[in-house]
Amino acid sequence: MVVQLKGKRGLIMGVANDRSIAWGIAKAMHEAGAELAFSYQGEAFGKRLAPLAESVGSDLMVDMDVTSDESLDAGFAQLAERWPTIDFLVHAVAFSDKSELTGRFINTSRRNFKNSLDISAYSFIEVARRAHPMMRETGGTLLTLTYQGSNKVVPNYNVMGVAKAALESITRYLANDLGPDGIRVNAISPGPMKTLAGAAIGGARKTYKFTEQNTPMRANATLEAVGGTAVWLASDAGSCTTGEIVHVDGGYHVLAMPQPEFL
Ligand code: NAD
Repeated sequence: MVVQLKGKRGLIMGVANDRSIAWGIAKAMHEAGAELAFSYQGEAFGKRLAPLAESVGSDLMVDMDVTSDESLDAGFAQLAERWPTIDFLVHAVAFSDKSELTGRFINTSRRNFKNSLDISAYSFIEVARRAHPMMRETGGTLLTLTYQGSNKVVPNYNVMGVAKAALESITRYLANDLGPDGIRVNAISPGPMKTLAGAAIGGARKTYKFTEQNTPMRANATLEAVGGTAVWLASDAGSCTTGEIVHVDGGYHVLAMPQPEFL
């Protein structure tokens, strides 16, 4: 079977710039033959997105803030006007207050805990509920982005680790809920990447260097590698995979200690 997305169309959420993981996925999906729509968070992000969307043949862009039900309703209504059905949705959205992505986890505030989990985890349920009717007849794929700080402690990742643990659990519950309708739900877990969100985490540069030196592959994830994984999961080749957390991290998650030369 050739892994391709010809005849499929979907919504990509979370392109902030050309370093965004969502953009790596969009490019790979476009190359694989998919038609793409994009959502963005407010006017400033929309301006940056427009030329990128155009470069992959898309003029379908909708403004959606995942913290607002009204914004999500309006965005999905706008999308459904052009495309009554979609085949996939990519949720590459996360946020936490930068001041709490450094230092001691015990200082996590109630306000930032709620906001981080709302945007970075709960929002996947809100978008799944709105995408569901657009996929119910034909089946489809929902994808989200997680990180290994969910099940092991990564210093400074703090409350985002808790949010990713919730997001991974949401992935499994949605997979079970939507499986009977032919909808698959998976999460991709890349190692550290140089993006806006990645740079907000304390010590990001050191983490990036450390994982690059110590992964079994001696390499960090690339936009191309994450994009290729997303293409596979959204394609018919991934038709029996759901509820999965797929690591794209050069194998870092299998390690229990650094390579001997870095001890
Ligand atoms: P990014 O900054 O390029 O993308 C984050 C996106 O989230 C932005 O487009 C931003 O507009 C969007 N967003 C934030 N709050 C929003 C809101 N209220 N409504 C709508 N959109 C909102 O960074 P990225 O690294 O590409 O992040 C994408 C996903 O990948 C995130 O879930 C992130 O946690 C995950 N991830 C990143 C890394 C990494 O090292 N960069 C590693 C593993 C997983």
